[in-house]
Amino acid sequence: MSAPHKLLVVSVDAMVGDDVEFARTLPAFGRLLRDAATAQIEAVFPTLTYPNHTAQLTGAGPASSGIYNNTQFQPHEADPDWFWSAHHVRVPTLLDAARRAGLRTAAVQWPATAHADIDTLVPEIWDREYWGGVQEMYRATGSPDVWETYVAKHVDLVVWEPKRDFNDFACAVAADVLERERPDVMVLHLVAVDAARHATGPFSPQVHDALRRIDGYLGRLLDVLEHTGELERTNVVLVSDHGHLAVEQHTQLNAVFAERGFLRIDGAGRLLDYDVICHSAGLSGQLFLAEDLSPARLADVAALLRDLEADPQYRIAAIHTAAEAASRYGLDGPFAYVVESEPGVLVGRDWTSRPVVRREDADFAGYLGNHGHAPQHGGSRCSSRPGRRSRRGRTRGAVRSSTRRRRSPRCSAWSCRTPKAPRCPSCSSALAWGRPSPRKSPVLCGAVGDGRDLRH
Ligand SMILES: [Zn+2]
Repeated sequence: MSAPHKLLVVSVDAMVGDDVEFARTLPAFGRLLRDAATAQIEAVFPTLTYPNHTAQLTGAGPASSGIYNNTQFQPHEADPDWFWSAHHVRVPTLLDAARRAGLRTAAVQWPATAHADIDTLVPEIWDREYWGGVQEMYRATGSPDVWETYVAKHVDLVVWEPKRDFNDFACAVAADVLERERPDVMVLHLVAVDAARHATGPFSPQVHDALRRIDGYLGRLLDVLEHTGELERTNVVLVSDHGHLAVEQHTQLNAVFAERGFLRIDGAGRLLDYDVICHSAGLSGQLFLAEDLSPARLADVAALLRDLEADPQYRIAAIHTAAEAASRYGLDGPFAYVVESEPGVLVGRDWTSRPVVRREDADFAGYLGNHGHAPQHGGSRCSSRPGRRSRRGRTRGAVRSSTRRRRSPRCSAWSCRTPKAPRCPSCSSALAWGRPSPRKSPVLCGAVGDGRDLRH
């Protein structure tokens, strides 16, 4: 009997279906895509990196996974923490299932994996100031000895200024991990295409340059697999997490809330307190309420939101209650409302800006491309997988077990992150079974689906 196949998942962040034709002309992409099944898959809402990468590894949308945004709700922080840690993820992942099945796992630069139980882990994390340095950061959040074995050797490849860039570092580490560890299941996240789309818009020559750069990384990884003799028994799956839209307008809801007396700032522009506040999700927003609002004030907030929804200058498509967002999009969290804007309208958190800044205005600043929009607004991400090989074998079984098993009990309070205990020891809330996502299991459906939606 032949040895079971291995799995290498490479996420090309923000690659979309329209990129595939060009990618086929490149050496490594072309080699991978030649015999691959490909599919365009709808992202989960919000179309942000962390909710969607978590969905790829869990089959669960934000309502179940707990990753409802890239960043945590920390309204008084200018630069809120991202959902770095796997402790925030409330459902088992593909890598958990693989490890339970006795497979060797690895993750490089994958979102929301810090502290995870992964054999070889170099997580995506960049808050080095919090940890007191880069070495301390990786020692605290990666797998044991990963600093000595992998990170120290390549950390000089990380570009911190003026724009953070981990791509060269991630590829170098991944190549070493493949060579040395020969993991059964490995995931890798590369963001060059996303960065190009943010900086220059959804489609530009720079996006093609970024795809060429990714092609070089893929070629290096394929060379390692060939050199180690693992290529023929490795299913290489390319995925992405979301598309981009051209940014047409910034709607700064917190500036509106401040103007109308629902949010208060001091003379230096610092937040004092709020009745309602917007946590940006890029091209959508999530509205949080103060905990002690009176029924009358709650009614005022609801009336205000109806006004904003009806005012065409803000270009708001709909403001959903959290229950409506959960029902319609599988999006739930500790917020009270979800703001779905018109395509290309950023829902910002800046309370010192003008409420509406349009692309043609002199004071328009920020990204030309962005995401976070409702997934039906376009920019479909893509997925490709080996054509026939992934329909059989152990790898597929591991994926199925992670997406179909009954969820582990978890604390039902959003403020508590303690998983898998009969009664939460931190906040004493009764545990609930995680709700299954009402939406189709996303990206790795390239590997786990029945193939009906796939072209071969
Ligand atoms: Zn992304």
